[in-house]
Amino acid sequence: MSKQSFNIAVLPGDGIGSEIMDACIKVLDRLLADQPRFDLRYTQGPGGAQHYADTGVALPDSTLRACADADAILFGAMGLPHIRYPDGTEINPQLDLRKDFDLYAGVRPIRAIPGVPSVLADPHAAQIDFVLVREQSEGLFYGRLYPELQPKANDDEAFDLGRISRKASERVFDFAFRLARQRRSLNPAKGRVTCVDKSNVLSSMAFFNKIYWERAKLNPDIGADHCYVDAMALNLVKRPWDYDVLPTENQFGDILSDLAAGLIGGLGMSPSGDIGDKHGLFQPSHGSAPDIAGQGKANPTAMILSAAMMLEWLGEIHCMPEAGAQAARLKLAVDAAFAPGRLHSFELGGKDGTRAIATAVIEALARSQVTA
Ligand code: NAD
Repeated sequence: MSKQSFNIAVLPGDGIGSEIMDACIKVLDRLLADQPRFDLRYTQGPGGAQHYADTGVALPDSTLRACADADAILFGAMGLPHIRYPDGTEINPQLDLRKDFDLYAGVRPIRAIPGVPSVLADPHAAQIDFVLVREQSEGLFYGRLYPELQPKANDDEAFDLGRISRKASERVFDFAFRLARQRRSLNPAKGRVTCVDKSNVLSSMAFFNKIYWERAKLNPDIGADHCYVDAMALNLVKRPWDYDVLPTENQFGDILSDLAAGLIGGLGMSPSGDIGDKHGLFQPSHGSAPDIAGQGKANPTAMILSAAMMLEWLGEIHCMPEAGAQAARLKLAVDAAFAPGRLHSFELGGKDGTRAIATAVIEALARSQVTA
């Protein structure tokens, strides 16, 4: 059987982006070295805030073309607080990519890894395993994505136009119900969707909530409930182990995903996938962390687990179970690397940085069986 090759656009970006990307590619090289079914070909694409400062362009056409032609996009982080557009906002090319490639579902799995201490003392914290599904084609980011529609600001007032549409809401809820069904097939205790909104106050959110219940009725095999976003902020601190799949609005998802990452060891442990019907971009949930860039302190785990999500997704859309099997192997290697007493990352007060963590994952891969 001939080996299939997937073309991956690699955008390291700013700050710690290139450090964690280098580590991730080394891990992927080790993972895929001893299996015959497929390989990854990488096309590097420049871009980011520093690129904007140097050239006046945040994402050159060549990078956009590489992304459009790729089977998947692997993204480090972009943005630097001191580099801004004239209106005072930051350079966020990741938002443009979401718009250009219609990456409407921001999938952020939050899973406790045994051996990584949680900020929660409750022993149930070891069971944390839920997924935020952030609608990211509209919501409160709509005015940023479509500035031509945004009411003009002046020196007395500024606006952010939010939008909730039937089409965007239906597709993200359908995505959430499909995901819950898939998770239940792997774990019978899963299979519940909880819509997170602010339908008690905002009419756009009442509309979001109405559409949610319409879609829930079409998915009667999956448990469905609902929670206001302020209550969810509390519940995620008090009993996050009770949740499974949480679809929510763009801005709420942005905020809750940082809170949720804090529950499982920090942003360096929290992967994500920006998924559309045709394209997928995989990146850690964190930013460019300029405070630790260049010091070797960045935790590459979120980047590595994002690459595992990429393999899972490639396996699904290309009907190639071997890619899914390698994703599962990679996640097990991460768990093994963090087994109790092994690694203690800088972000949790330890001394293990990018190199030590990547090496531990590579060593765990070397010990693991190739099952695909
Ligand atoms: P950040 O996520 O970069 O950092 C927040 C905190 O978490 C910092 O203390 C940082 O040191 C720490 N941290 C983040 N990732 C880490 C890792 N892998 N290992 C160890 N510690 C880690 O958020 P910020 O400081 O608010 O933003 C910095 C820049 O990144 C800004 O310009 C922002 O706009 C941009 N940003 C980009 C993305 C993206 O590319 N998707 C997302 C968020 C923020």
